[in-house]
Amino acid sequence: MAAPSKIVVVFDFDKTIIDCDSDNWVVDELGATDLFNSLLPTMPWNSLMDTMMRELHAQGKTVEDIRKALTSVPTHPRVVPAIKTAHALGCDLKVVSDANLFFIETVLEYLRIRDCFSDIYTNPCFVDGQGCLRIQPFNSSPHACANPCPPNMCKGGVIEKLLSTLPENIFIYLGDGVGDYCPSLKLREEDHVLPRKDFPVWDLISKTPMLVKAKIHAWTDGQELEQTLLQTISEICPSFLDDEDNQLMSADCKLQTVSTSAGYEPLRRTALSPCTISRLRRFI
Ligand SMILES: [Mg+2]
Ligand SMILES: [Zn+2]
Repeated sequence: MAAPSKIVVVFDFDKTIIDCDSDNWVVDELGATDLFNSLLPTMPWNSLMDTMMRELHAQGKTVEDIRKALTSVPTHPRVVPAIKTAHALGCDLKVVSDANLFFIETVLEYLRIRDCFSDIYTNPCFVDGQGCLRIQPFNSSPHACANPCPPNMCKGGVIEKLLSTLPENIFIYLGDGVGDYCPSLKLREEDHVLPRKDFPVWDLISKTPMLVKAKIHAWTDGQELEQTLLQTISEICPSFLDDEDNQLMSADCKLQTVSTSAGYEPLRRTALSPCTISRLRRFI
């Protein structure tokens, strides 16, 4: 009998869990947009954000000011319930993001979903002796990836490591940006990629969809993120929908129950009936 598998759901952060770019949000909220725009052509994004933190500190802005700015980031009202449902179903949730650990943890704690995630892979940061937030690159040395990944982080490398440590698990990856293309290419036939429609990762995937081995399901906003994610989970583990006795089930399921339709599945929109969604939501 095949070993039990688990569903691992990997989320990008900016414009996926939250509905904006957290770097831009903090810079704008703290009134440093012009400086940011003037420095943008001169250095890589990750170095620029570290520079911006030092500039804001020099202007008297504190870590608490940054934390406060992060508590007002826009989120779609269905994303937090989607995350809570996936977690309650027993999925292993992780974040892979080119933001930074302080921004991500602050927002997830504010949204009261930090405990839903087992790992956060992102740019590390620390508060220095002067009380300034410093942001460092995720990849301390060049990653040499040929895909369009920023110099400080190859998300595909993170997914490769996860796939090699958890090979029996089924992966679902959600993202919107250019940096989410590389991990999409690493996924296997049995995995699922959920690109945000009409965003950069969608454009890249749409150009040559045959390069993506995973099944592709697009979403446009938080409501479709919820529908598409829960639909995908229920396709991997149909038992979630079959159980009628309200017993909380685990996302552990047998590999042989996973649908492995061969061949390329065209980019498609999935629709989950309200009845199905409410049956999945009862796990919260
Ligand atoms: Mg993003
Ligand atoms: Zn890469």
